[in-house]
Amino acid sequence: MSITSFIPPQRTLMGPGPSDIYPQVLQALSRPTIGHLDPLFIKMMDELKQLLQYAFQTKNTFTIAVSAPGSAGMEACFVNLVEAGDKVLVCRNGVFGDRMRENVERCGGIAIMVDNAWGEPVSPALVEQALQTDPDIKIVAFVHAETSTGALSDAKTLAEIARKYDCLTIVDAVTSLGGVPLLVDEWQLDAVYSGSQKCLSCVPGLSPLTFSEQAIAKIQQRKTPVQSWFLDQSLVLGYWSGEGKRSYHHTAPVNSLYALHEALVLLHNEGLEQAWQRHHRAHLELKTGLEALGIQFVVEEAYRLPQLNAVYIPEGIDDAAVRSTLLERYNLEIGAGLGTLAGKAWRIGLMGYAARNENVALCLKALESTLK
Ligand code: PLP
Repeated sequence: MSITSFIPPQRTLMGPGPSDIYPQVLQALSRPTIGHLDPLFIKMMDELKQLLQYAFQTKNTFTIAVSAPGSAGMEACFVNLVEAGDKVLVCRNGVFGDRMRENVERCGGIAIMVDNAWGEPVSPALVEQALQTDPDIKIVAFVHAETSTGALSDAKTLAEIARKYDCLTIVDAVTSLGGVPLLVDEWQLDAVYSGSQKCLSCVPGLSPLTFSEQAIAKIQQRKTPVQSWFLDQSLVLGYWSGEGKRSYHHTAPVNSLYALHEALVLLHNEGLEQAWQRHHRAHLELKTGLEALGIQFVVEEAYRLPQLNAVYIPEGIDDAAVRSTLLERYNLEIGAGLGTLAGKAWRIGLMGYAARNENVALCLKALESTLK
């Protein structure tokens, strides 16, 4: 056997995630591993919690990072908040809304679906209509930033409607956190999860998660134990208690948490509003360049995510051939279309570290010469 070390090429990642990692974050990752119950590590975890509260704009005591990717954050919300027989309104306007449905059903819950076309935001009117029709619904679940289409939904209004009908909200903020405004406390969102590998430009494999007091109260009133041991958040609470003492739950991904701490320090130093504006500026620049190449957006301007630009593949262009030329000639990754947009659209990410002039210029130059 002559297997040697794996040395990946230096790509520029401008797909739907993972995004390029900040150099400072990669450095943080390679710092010496210390024990996850070491007093210094515990201090770092306390800071990490404060930084996550800043990123989510929340004072929620229960604000942590699940030691697993965004899908685990999603599952943590559903397995903790949904019990057998519970009715959950699930909004579906792309791939990830459908995953929410699967989560509800695997918890033994009943998913009541509100469907919007791919590329459109979730319709508040349809949500209200569904809640009026069925007073037994207790949770409304939706994706804030649908990565499969590039559409942004109005989380504030959806949460207002949910509250009017006495429902909690489960919100997927995997692609929104750090890229567009997400105000957990002001909008009174209840269970919100994200991912480390999108606009935070951190290593993949961690899922920031926050629960409101109301979400915690619902978990405390459960009639049955959470069926997943690892994701039962009442067990994790002791680990993230923030009181300077921590009990063992699982071996924390120590170095990945250094990386998340560093990514959040960078976000904090830049300032959330500045980060949102930077994503917006990069998007406008990309838009101008793409439109000059005759490329059209999938999503209407009012609902477009700056960090995930879904665009139609021009007529007569070979999708896979273009993406492999970009990769081979420019070391540039852009994303393929997903689901109903497979073969019809590309997804160009401007997430975190990638939301910069240099990236926009590279992408436009590479596309222009490849499409000639
Ligand atoms: N939700 C959304 C909106 C996503 O974009 C993703 C990943 O792309 C996920 C959930 C799942 O996250 P992960 O791939 O980190 O498990």
